[in-house]
Amino acid sequence: MYDVIIIGAGAAGMMAAGTAAQNGKKVLVIEKMEKAGRKIRITGKGRCNLTNARPPEEFAEQVRTNADFFATAFAEFNNRATIRFFERRGLKLDFERGDRVFPRSGKAWDVANTLEEWCRDNGVEFWFHTRVTGLMTLGGKIFGVRYMNRRGFERKEEAARVIVATGGVSYPATGSTGDGYTFASEAGHDIEPLRPSLTPLVSLHPQLRELHKLLLRNIRATLFIDGEAVREEFGEIGFSERGIEGAVALRMSRDAVDGRRVKLSLDLKPALTVEILQERIRREIAEMSEEEFFAELLRKLLPKPLVMPVCKELDIQSKTYVKKIGDKEIDRLIALLKGFVLPISDYAPFEYAVVTAGGVRCDEVNRYTMESLKVKGLYFAGEVLDLDANTGGYNLQIAFSTGRLAGQLKQ
Ligand SMILES: Cc1cc2nc3c(=O)[nH]c(=O)nc-3n(C[C@H](O)[C@H](O)[C@H](O)COP(=O)(O)OP(=O)(O)OC[C@H]3O[C@@H](n4cnc5c(N)ncnc54)[C@H](O)[C@@H]3O)c2cc1C
Repeated sequence: MYDVIIIGAGAAGMMAAGTAAQNGKKVLVIEKMEKAGRKIRITGKGRCNLTNARPPEEFAEQVRTNADFFATAFAEFNNRATIRFFERRGLKLDFERGDRVFPRSGKAWDVANTLEEWCRDNGVEFWFHTRVTGLMTLGGKIFGVRYMNRRGFERKEEAARVIVATGGVSYPATGSTGDGYTFASEAGHDIEPLRPSLTPLVSLHPQLRELHKLLLRNIRATLFIDGEAVREEFGEIGFSERGIEGAVALRMSRDAVDGRRVKLSLDLKPALTVEILQERIRREIAEMSEEEFFAELLRKLLPKPLVMPVCKELDIQSKTYVKKIGDKEIDRLIALLKGFVLPISDYAPFEYAVVTAGGVRCDEVNRYTMESLKVKGLYFAGEVLDLDANTGGYNLQIAFSTGRLAGQLKQ
């Protein structure tokens, strides 16, 4: 009989499994997909931003929900511990802009494989293609799981400890389909309503189609909800067929998904004041020849894909002679450069969300152990909990820290 069964071979599940096995426990990981760490393998655009190297005391600011709850798991196994963990196992790391940490190989697979190898070296057993269908509990204690084996037969496996590390519901093709929420609620837990977080924002702005694949760096974006500015961020905004993306838009989506009447205002020239812009535009116009057009002026100020949308937005023909552009037009152009407004009509669904906000309520879980306060021997780790953070390596750190603590099987 196994000492502990872990449901899910993701970042949290493998960290929990290896930890328990290192402490001498007989560990079984049940994973419904064909291999371990399917989601890890696609993180960070295939490069896996596995944590963030900023000082640990600044970490909490990046955790969007239940940062206090997370603090105990983080104190046990923080970002420095994660970096040491992977380096000791031979994974060379690189530290990039914004203190983001990546494997030097540039391959997310190496992170997943390092974790899996560590688990196997410590004797963890993996069952793939096997889906847990329910928890077995009696008298407020866990005693095992029911599962569907690869041939489609229902079976039972007993264990006095079970760790639910089933992830959220985002990118369900990786295996994270939210089964853990069902298990938790059947065990008597309340689930904080689920919302996509770090998800593209959808706008019906008519010019948006022309911006596909454009990535704007150094943009200041302000999110307005019901007319009130609720968040301001500086960084990258990208456009794709899924919607408005890039780190800034994704981070803002966390607030946008809860709002009505949402709009995003982009300052395309955050480093320049209105006065400096006026001076610069007047100078450009003065230096341009009689034959040059308004579009050519815009090209000096903006990336090419933005030229036509800006013309349309201002209702000025791109082929208007630049010398005909007067002060009124210059003022309207500057207002647009300092506040290109995109009304947000919707957000992309869980399929495209990097993480799931909401989940197993943290006030029903012991923060010092990750054990359920409702069912003895039942633990939770990773995204299944009501924990989510910004982009930048913070979400995987949540999985590693909570997985590490749960895997210690403290009571
Ligand atoms: C496209 C994308 C890019 C991302 N990039 C980053 C990044 O660069 N940095 C970062 O910090 N975070 C990133 N994230 C977020 C991060 O990947 C997740 O927060 C993290 O993987 C959560 O780990 P987890 O172990 O809790 O869950 P998961 O990794 O989702 O693992 C859960 C596992 O449980 C299994 N499972 C579920 N139900 C069952 C069941 N009933 N029976 C058996 N097995 C089951 C699933 O198949 C899955 O393997 C990204 C997410 C996405 C979608």
